Amino acid sequence: MAELHLVPAERLHDAVVTIFLAAGSSAREAGLIADHVVEANLRGHDSHGVGMLPAYLRSVAAGGMRLNHTLRVAIDTGAMLVCDADGGVGQVMAHEAMELGIARAREQGSAIVSLRNSHHIGRIGHWAEQCAAAGMVSLHFVNVAAGAYVAPFGGSRARLGTNPFCAGFPRVGIDPLIVDFATSRLAAGKVRVAHNKGVQLPPGALLDNAGRPTLDPGKLFETPPGSLTTFGEHKGWGLMLACELLGAALVGARTQHDAVADGIILNSMFSVIVAPERLGTAAPFASELEAVLGWVQSEVADGRPTVRLPGDPERESRAQRLAAGIPVDATTLEQLVEAGRSVGVARLGLI
Ligand code: NAD
Repeated sequence: MAELHLVPAERLHDAVVTIFLAAGSSAREAGLIADHVVEANLRGHDSHGVGMLPAYLRSVAAGGMRLNHTLRVAIDTGAMLVCDADGGVGQVMAHEAMELGIARAREQGSAIVSLRNSHHIGRIGHWAEQCAAAGMVSLHFVNVAAGAYVAPFGGSRARLGTNPFCAGFPRVGIDPLIVDFATSRLAAGKVRVAHNKGVQLPPGALLDNAGRPTLDPGKLFETPPGSLTTFGEHKGWGLMLACELLGAALVGARTQHDAVADGIILNSMFSVIVAPERLGTAAPFASELEAVLGWVQSEVADGRPTVRLPGDPERESRAQRLAAGIPVDATTLEQLVEAGRSVGVARLGLI
């Protein structure tokens, strides 16, 4: 197990801003990237936290992540917006697409927003939280075009990305309910984190490059690579495919079918945004949602303290990590320092 350092959230945030300013981002862009990756760490998803920075900078150098790019609305049918990101910074492109969708849903009661070919948009829950903060219910189907990582149910070779699905429901006076997961059993970033920490994977999550089950996270990064498995067997496989078709194929974005494993991560996202306020159902929806949550939590299995809701682990992690600091392994810290050096930052003040 690699050594862990506890780093205050604001120090990590400053480091990310410093690195992206040095790389050439505007202050707004550097701030949005830092907000997103540090929030992912706070919410316990280190796979989408500051550990992504070295990959992001490699993408910038390779021309796959375009700094200071402006989102463009390519199609507007009223009910649906299709936005071209053309490799723009995902943390900015998705933020702007959600702003457009929220404004449209405020006008019309609902909106569909497609984001095409953005650079990596990170933790999808972040975008559902942005919608929920504006009082919106939202659904997000996301494809990943970055070289295949996941074998189909019944397959032995990787064919699709970890295509996440997310749903967000605002609650009155309390954090929203956020359902947010990769359709693979493990997100690829979690395998990287396990590899960096030197720990094994749970059984059934990974196949080696001959299609045999393995616990060794390193098998995903061999040449040719191993493959992740889908969650929930055929059911997760079906949802993964729906993310590929809705997120990308339907709107002419890049599918995984012709993606190359060049280290550049593209995401396309199909989002449905609904405004209960505009539909006139906000008050009954809020009370029914609380009634449903009370009902589903009213019986607890033996030996369990409570039925946890989607979003509870992230909320608990956030409170704990804000108080104690974010645990960052030594390998990831070294990689951050090196990423800073690659854009001319001599000292980050992290180690
Ligand atoms: P995960 O397996 O940790 O599942 C997370 C979901 O399950 C959350 O909604 C969480 O609240 C809920 N949950 C976890 N434990 C629970 C419990 N005991 N009771 C009730 N609910 C519980 O997530 P993951 O599949 O590893 O995905 C991690 C992150 O990676 C997500 O934020 C996802 O959006 C992101 N992701 C992004 C991409 C991309 O290309 N941008 C690709 C894949 C995944």
